[in-house]
Amino acid sequence: MNTCIFCQIVEKRVPAKLIMENDYVVAFSDINPKAPVHALIVPKKHVRSVNDLSENDATDIVQMMLAAKEVAQKLQVVKGYKLAFNVERAGGQVIDHVHMHLLAWPDDRNIGDQPEEKEVAMI
Ligand code: AMP
Ligand code: ZN
Repeated sequence: MNTCIFCQIVEKRVPAKLIMENDYVVAFSDINPKAPVHALIVPKKHVRSVNDLSENDATDIVQMMLAAKEVAQKLQVVKGYKLAFNVERAGGQVIDHVHMHLLAWPDDRNIGDQPEEKEVAMI
């Protein structure tokens, strides 16, 4: 039994608010959003960390980027958004399944307009 929470979401054994899915990736809303728009883009293949990625994962990596573009279009934030990976505990990674954060501050505001948003790197 796979105990990885993101594998369980991929396998639909744990519910999530899905945004898009294809053969390589799923995208869903972050359960504890750190921005007005906060999605996670997750390869279906389990890879623990960016540190474990290799040439064999090239297609999955490209698919994550293309999924980010699609998610931004779907969530209507193409004007501006942030893509981020936390890598290992010292880099803020809590879930050991590679994932890309997509964060956006829509409504005609820009990152940093609000004082509390100066620290947007802390996701
Ligand atoms: P990280 O710190 O980069 O490992 O980010 C993990 C992210 O996953 C955090 O932003 C969490 O809020 C989010 N998260 C954890 N469990 C779930 C879940 N079941 N569904 C959606 N997002 C989750
Ligand atoms: Zn996994």
